[in-house]
Amino acid sequence: MTVIWTPKLNEDAQKWHDIAARLSDEKFGPLAEELDRDQRYPWESIDELVKSGLAGLFIPTEFGGGGAPLTATIAAVERVASACSSTAAILCACQLGAFPVLLGGRDDQKRKYLGEMAQGTATSFALSERSTGSDAAAITATADREGEGWRIKGEKYWIGNGGASRYYVVFAKTDPKAGGRGISAFMVDKEAEGVSIDELNDKMGIRGTQTSNLKLDTWVAADAMIGEEGRALRLALKTLNVGRIMVSAQSVGLALAAYRTAAERAVERQAFGGPIIENQGIGFKLADLATEISAARLMLYEAARAYDAGEDVTNLGAMAKLFTSEVSHKAADVAVQVWGGFGYCKPNVAERLYRDQRILEIYEGTSEIQRLVLARAVRKNVEKAAQEASA
Ligand SMILES: Cc1cc2nc3c(=O)[nH]c(=O)nc-3n(C[C@H](O)[C@H](O)[C@H](O)COP(=O)(O)OP(=O)(O)OC[C@H]3O[C@@H](n4cnc5c(N)ncnc54)[C@H](O)[C@@H]3O)c2cc1C
Repeated sequence: MTVIWTPKLNEDAQKWHDIAARLSDEKFGPLAEELDRDQRYPWESIDELVKSGLAGLFIPTEFGGGGAPLTATIAAVERVASACSSTAAILCACQLGAFPVLLGGRDDQKRKYLGEMAQGTATSFALSERSTGSDAAAITATADREGEGWRIKGEKYWIGNGGASRYYVVFAKTDPKAGGRGISAFMVDKEAEGVSIDELNDKMGIRGTQTSNLKLDTWVAADAMIGEEGRALRLALKTLNVGRIMVSAQSVGLALAAYRTAAERAVERQAFGGPIIENQGIGFKLADLATEISAARLMLYEAARAYDAGEDVTNLGAMAKLFTSEVSHKAADVAVQVWGGFGYCKPNVAERLYRDQRILEIYEGTSEIQRLVLARAVRKNVEKAAQEASA
């Protein structure tokens, strides 16, 4: 029996988990150190993700994907993340790009973009800009009517899988006066005239992923719009509700990897005549970590179950992202501490995980933004209860 709580997966989820486990052990894990050192995008792993069906596991079967529910998807992502943070982040960046199409796209758009994604031609999510990340309503990219379509101008920044993806869901203001209610989403092809990528970020962690800018002064046809005109901020937030559960899966996977290396090292490393786990200063740290990772994992699987059951996951997804990412922070920190001097020096898995972890508290809504979402929900609950009491 493992110390950490383990989910009981149904047959379908177990199948995806086992595919992810095999590839993680044979392919993704052995590459992790090299990708980090050389900051190299793993095209060979993308081939494996496509061949195995993992690249499109969450895409409905009618569009060429695996048709897996979120529970199966997170089981696979968590397993990949415990072997290679970068490969898991790539899987999640693709999912983030696909969801606006899945949630708001027309059937022809789903057939094209989701079908191509299942075959390895990815779509990225391009909302953030240099001047604004958390405050998405403040984006400055614009889309103005021109002929039978739209001229999109601006620059998107920190795009996950940027440059590696062929297509981009670009969020731009079609009615700047309307603020958050004047944002629309468009499919943009990076090969189109007036689209360029000229900056790749040199990152602290997940260095096997590619993160880029996207410069735009390009024309798209009217049918490039995804969803309703002016309603794309809502689409972005709905996408992020699912995306946060995916980041939560990355967090639990990374926490498990950090816990594993810390626990093994604590049993094996001798000091003062015995293994260091015999000291409560170390043993209790691992006991707390096992407890917190179990709680984080329970929260992750409950959030995915709720999503699959059609429930609103705005709050639960925010809680899952907030809690699991902060548990992964603690796990990476404990791993470095248990490894001591070796944990501070390359090449060491604890050192890499410590750097890979940090993004989990930043992208798809920082920890502060999750707390903001939850604080608003707390207030709304109290105000609603007061209103009902006085009615
Ligand atoms: C590797 C990587 C991949 C990314 N991938 C994508 C992607 O695929 N697509 C995409 O669109 N974006 C992506 N991003 C952007 C990412 O989502 C943003 O960096 C993130 O949302 C934070 O925005 P910001 O960096 O502008 O920070 P800011 O919004 O400037 O925030 C700075 C700090 O202030 C805090 N803060 C801001 N507002 C508040 C508030 N109201 N209350 C309390 N604290 C607050 C924040 O929590 C943060 O700590 C990526 C970023 C990175 C680094």
